[in-house]
Amino acid sequence: MSSVDFASLGISAPVLKAVQQLGYEQPSPVQEASIPILLEGKNLLGTAQTGTGKTAAFALPFLSMLDEKQKSPQILVLTPTRELAIQVAEAFQSYAKHIKGFHVLPIYGGADIGGQLRGLKRGAQVVVGTPGRMLDHLRRRSLDLSHIKGLILDEADEMLRMGFIDDVETILAKTPPDCQRALFSATMPPAIKRVADKYLGDAEVVSIQNKTKTVERIAQSHLMVKGHQKMDALTRILDVEQFDGMIIFVRTKSSTLEIAEKLEARGFSSAALNGDLTQTLRERTINRLKKGQLDIVVATDVAARGLDVERISHVINYDVPYDNESYVHRIGRTGRAGREGKAIMFVTQKEIRMLRSIEKSTRQPISSFNLPSNEEVSGQRIALFKEQLVGMCKSTKLDKFHSLVKEVAAENEIDMVLLAAALAFEAQKERPLFPKMVAIDTPRASASDRNERKPRERNDRNERPDRNERSERPDRSDRSQRPDRAPKPPRDKGPTTDEEGNEVTMITYRIEVGRNDDVSPKNIVGAIANEAEIDAQFIGHIKLHDDYSTVDLPEGMPKELFDHLYKVRVCQKPLKISIDNGTAGEQRDAKPYGGGKRDKPSFSKDKPAFKGKPKAHRGADSAPRKPSKRPTTDRK
Ligand code: AMP
Repeated sequence: MSSVDFASLGISAPVLKAVQQLGYEQPSPVQEASIPILLEGKNLLGTAQTGTGKTAAFALPFLSMLDEKQKSPQILVLTPTRELAIQVAEAFQSYAKHIKGFHVLPIYGGADIGGQLRGLKRGAQVVVGTPGRMLDHLRRRSLDLSHIKGLILDEADEMLRMGFIDDVETILAKTPPDCQRALFSATMPPAIKRVADKYLGDAEVVSIQNKTKTVERIAQSHLMVKGHQKMDALTRILDVEQFDGMIIFVRTKSSTLEIAEKLEARGFSSAALNGDLTQTLRERTINRLKKGQLDIVVATDVAARGLDVERISHVINYDVPYDNESYVHRIGRTGRAGREGKAIMFVTQKEIRMLRSIEKSTRQPISSFNLPSNEEVSGQRIALFKEQLVGMCKSTKLDKFHSLVKEVAAENEIDMVLLAAALAFEAQKERPLFPKMVAIDTPRASASDRNERKPRERNDRNERPDRNERSERPDRSDRSQRPDRAPKPPRDKGPTTDEEGNEVTMITYRIEVGRNDDVSPKNIVGAIANEAEIDAQFIGHIKLHDDYSTVDLPEGMPKELFDHLYKVRVCQKPLKISIDNGTAGEQRDAKPYGGGKRDKPSFSKDKPAFKGKPKAHRGADSAPRKPSKRPTTDRK
């Protein structure tokens, strides 16, 4: 972590206030490096991934330079997916909390365009969106780029992989030549470098270096967990792990307080350690930890810097660290003075890259942590309870209580064992011995995730490789981790099962765009995934022919979605999707629905592969649709 604070980076007063209220203690490395460059008005080329704090790295400086009076779009952020667009828009909204009249609008495919048109008409200083939908708005002249002062390409390598790079370039070419530009990418494949060279000129380069570090004597593991289930997972770990002292690392000051309080409420003695504490208080907390008067400390990186307490047997990275350096520093708080240590890191789906990057830099695999089951938690609590009970019988003076219990038993003719059971029941209420625990999804970061993030550029004319050999689009939402959304090979590869053992059947569809239209598999995946809201992982084998292509999709596509996909345009042509009946070369200009002679798919409403709703599609020929609810992020 850096030693500078946000105030010294030069961000504006209202933005600084919001950051402080969010509990951000110090800038992350990518923020410390990027914010001054952007505030100076320079272009920036940044290598940073999700989890490094890159959103604030560009949002804070651009918001600091915002012209509050100008209502037309000033800042444009391009993101590869709708999830990221929403996430970035939300981040802007929270950082701009104290900027009067501020509006951010997320625009992306698959959502009602009417709401977006109204939002743009009302005026939004910041527009965040996916390239396809932005182009749509440009064609409709609903998005005015003539006053754009700052343009950010977020996760540029993902946009490349999803086949959006041409759209991105078209948009870039429409922004004023003197507008300030920033490009963030986890990797820098040649195609991204070329875009950067062309549109970012002599940009300053920010790259968070990953020095190799070795960490010995510390058993490291990670747990894939959804953000909202972290607390439950932590409680289970605390129940079962035999620990002496423990440090739990979080990102914000407010989280240190919140988590320490929640742990206290669950019966664990814990205290917060953050930069707001006076030196005296900080020392007092550390001393209590040293003496064993306190077992758990919930800390930010800043507050735990240099902390040296021998009895710390466990480090929990409740929030992933910003970079590898911080990780090594954090886990180095355990395994002190030649002792063994254990480090467990919570990782959400979108942070897998961070996990892999840490593994690479420490040159050690971080194994998957087995979350204790209900039975294990229960067993552990019961064992402890028995131990305490026996200990109490042996060491505590119980004469008066002995007589009291005897009296109750005699007066009410109750069996002594039953009475003891009632007392045991009363005693365990705070920490139930047979807890009813919430189910925690702990999907594994599979070996395929290692490839998942690798960018790959394919020759446009190539077929999409088979699922097991191809890289997947990373999903930004934890929803995507549901085991019922596992990738499947096409049917002709034989039936397969997902992580829950359910079989998923793929059906081959035909679409009326092919090589002659200059289509690439990436374009098809991008359109189907983003516009029709089918997870990319459910898009199977794609085969390009001259004037049509085939694509494998899970069976059971809802009819509305099919109708919608029929009209979705790729390379200016509607897909006109139909079930492939192998009659290649046949004239296909009729919609295979409503009396068409082609095979009908078997439609189902509740197939996990399909998120269900029909989506407004791209292109000028979109049928008018009822306005739907827009995300709450676009307005204050
Ligand atoms: P990002 O890498 O932009 O996706 O950010 C990841 C998470 O880190 C978000 O939840 C941010 O709110 C949080 N974050 C970003 N910068 C800081 C900071 N300086 N201090 C604490 N949390 C931060």
